[in-house]
Amino acid sequence: MLLSVVIPVFNEAETLSMTLARLREALRRVTWEIIFVDDGSTDGSLEIIRRAALLDPRIKALSFSRNFGHQAAITAGLDFANGDAVAVMDADLQDPPELLPRMLELLQQGYDVVSPKRVSREGETVFKRCTAALFYRALARIVNGKLSVDVGDFRLFSRRAVLAIRNFRERHRFMRGLVAWLGLKEAILPFERQPRAAGETKYSFWKMLQFAWTAVSSFSALPLRLSIAAGAILSCGGFLYLLWVLYLAIFTHKLVPGWASIVTLQCIFSGMILLALGAIGDYVARIYEESKDRPLYVVASAVNCQIPRSEIRCASVLPIAEDNPIPAVRVSA
Ligand code: UDP
Ligand code: MG
Repeated sequence: MLLSVVIPVFNEAETLSMTLARLREALRRVTWEIIFVDDGSTDGSLEIIRRAALLDPRIKALSFSRNFGHQAAITAGLDFANGDAVAVMDADLQDPPELLPRMLELLQQGYDVVSPKRVSREGETVFKRCTAALFYRALARIVNGKLSVDVGDFRLFSRRAVLAIRNFRERHRFMRGLVAWLGLKEAILPFERQPRAAGETKYSFWKMLQFAWTAVSSFSALPLRLSIAAGAILSCGGFLYLLWVLYLAIFTHKLVPGWASIVTLQCIFSGMILLALGAIGDYVARIYEESKDRPLYVVASAVNCQIPRSEIRCASVLPIAEDNPIPAVRVSA
C-alpha cells in the first residue's frame, strides 16, 4: 500500500530538512511518496525541496507560480497524489509524523477519513486558542454535515475519499467543510499539537478572519438570512414606535421627543442596512469569481511528478521552460 504525504510549503526553509528527517524515520515500515507543494515561497524553500526530489524519486516537488494559499496547495497535492492513502500535514512539524502509522492502521480498519483531534495546542497564544475554539464551535453549527471540532487540515484520506474531494473545484475553499459535507466514515484520533519547529505562523489575524469568513460563506447562506430576520425585527419595532408616537400626538400634549433619538435610530438602521448590503455584495462577488472559472492554481514547475493533465480540472500546469537549469519535470517510472 502506497502512502502519499501532501505538504503545503510557504517559506518554511528552516523546518523542511527536519520535517523530512522525521518523516523518513516515522515511515520506515511504509511505502511512501511525499508531495511538497511550494506555494510561492521566497526564502529558498523551493531549492531545498527540489534538491531533495532530485536525490530521491519518492519525493515530488510541485511549485506554484505565486502564492495561491494554503487550501489551494492542499488541493494541488491531492490532485497529484498517487497513494492508496493520502495524508495532508503542515511543514512545520506541528502535526507529528509519528502519528501516521497509527492513522494508517485506523484507515485499514475501514474508515475513509482519519482525523487527529487537537486536545492541546502547545506554543500557540491564548488569543489563537480562544478564537480557534470559538471558530470550530460556531462553524459546527453552521456547516451542513458533521464538522469535527478541533480537527485541522492534518488528516489521512482513503483513495476513494481523495477521488471524491477532487470533484470539488470551488475557488473559495474550506477543506474541512468539504470533508464534513462528504459525510464519509471518519475516525477521530486525539493528539497533542506541538509548537512550530521554527519560523512563524503564516496565518495572521487578518488572514484568519478571511479564512473564517470563507468557511462561513461557502457553507451557509445564514448571514444573508440573518439580515432578513434583523430587517423584520427592526421594521416591527419601528411600526410599534410609530403607533406610540401617534398615541402621544393625538391623546397627549407631550411633544414628540427630539432629534437625538431619531438620529440614533437612523444611524443604527443605516448601519444594519449597510452591513446586510455588504454581506450580499460579498456573496455576489464570490459568485462572480466562481463564474469566471479560473484555475485554482498554476503549477510553474515540477520534479518527479507524473502530470495527469486530462484528469485535473480547473488547474493550470505550465509546460517546462527550456532554459530552466534544473529539469523541471522528470516523469517517474
Ligand atoms: N501555507 C501555505 N500557503 C500559505 C500559508 C501557509 O502553503 O499561504 C502552509 C505553511 O507552510 C504550513 C501550512 O500551510 O505548512 C499551515 O500554515 P501555518 O503553519 O502557518 O498555519 P498554523 O498552523 O499556524 O495555523
Ligand atoms: Mg502550522
